[in-house]
Amino acid sequence: MIPYGRQSISEADIEAVVSVLRSDFITQGPALPRFEQAVAAYCGASYGVATNSATSALHLACLALDVGPGDLVWTSPISFVASANCARFCGADIDFVDIDAATFNMDPEKLAEKLEHARKSGGRLPKVVIPVHLAGQPSDLCAISKLSEEYGFRVIEDAAHALGGRYRGSAIGSCEHSDITIFSFHPVKLLTTGEGGMAITNRTDLAERMESLRSHGITREPSRMTRTPDGPWYYQQLELGFNYRMTDIQAALGYSQLQRLDAFLQKRVQLAGQYDTAFTDSGIRFQERQADSQSAHHLYIVRVPRSLHEKVFTAMREQGINVNLHYIPVYLQPYYQQLGFVAGHCPEAEQYYSEAVSLPIFPDLSSGQQDQVILALKTMLDQG
Ligand SMILES: *Cc1c(COP(=O)(O)O)cnc(C)c1O
Repeated sequence: MIPYGRQSISEADIEAVVSVLRSDFITQGPALPRFEQAVAAYCGASYGVATNSATSALHLACLALDVGPGDLVWTSPISFVASANCARFCGADIDFVDIDAATFNMDPEKLAEKLEHARKSGGRLPKVVIPVHLAGQPSDLCAISKLSEEYGFRVIEDAAHALGGRYRGSAIGSCEHSDITIFSFHPVKLLTTGEGGMAITNRTDLAERMESLRSHGITREPSRMTRTPDGPWYYQQLELGFNYRMTDIQAALGYSQLQRLDAFLQKRVQLAGQYDTAFTDSGIRFQERQADSQSAHHLYIVRVPRSLHEKVFTAMREQGINVNLHYIPVYLQPYYQQLGFVAGHCPEAEQYYSEAVSLPIFPDLSSGQQDQVILALKTMLDQG
């Protein structure tokens, strides 16, 4: 079976994990800050706060930006459910901004229209907007950031797909146009720690808040306490936090994987280029890439004619090619329907959903396997 995505684990990765297992600390040791600093440095940002998942990192990011009951968060409907769930964890309301038909990312024009409509009609404006860099293709961050100044919202980049991507000369994660950027280290993503995530920021206050909330809201730092410590054993819980920590075992794996990130990316670029060439003039739609950005190519998504959509899934899966669909519009999930969202809310996202197919792309995909995928899809398209 050819999966749509898969981790690539080297002997060096295994060695890195084993050496932590043999060391004094398998959690809360030196591997974690080393990994955090390395990812932040890779992005050209100040702080990295590692977590046990990107979902936890999204939750912490929302809390650090004071998202709570009565607040509103907007995101893209074409994303994993976690991009919206993070607002709900905080008791906030969520809404969705429709996508651009060509880039499959949140449409900045529709964002502008929705903001203007909310302002004019006396509706609520979002406190936070979460663009998602779908498949690794950066969203139009400049346009979103400009609107954030005009309307006073904060920006969290859901970059679960985009580690290694670039936008206008900066790495995704530089947070030049956002407050916080989130990465995921799930095995199908750009690099893996098994489960894991990280929040990147340049703001000291946000980094400290996320660090605190990651570990129960507890501090051992006397300067942050409400009174003089009782003794050297003393700590204080200042707010209600969680245990969202990443282990040193995971961080060591992540650090080792990070050394191969550029090689992974090169391979993904090459595979994407081969798909591009193979499917030129074949009647499918590609994800539009901007000249000012570099996709991390986490996914390779194409849009096939609606009439073939289900057949492509059935036929290719029968041949052992595990094509996938990223994503079902989030608001069509029963949980969100219960909150009052109805079909038709984001027409472009629903059109996309009826056509999208993710083809296998990952560093260890062999050219023989890729040829098999290309042949299978081309055959479907030729048969019509
Ligand atoms: C994978 C993913 C997440 C969640 O990542 P986890 O590390 O699995 O919690 C969030 N957003 C997007 C867009 C994702 O693809």
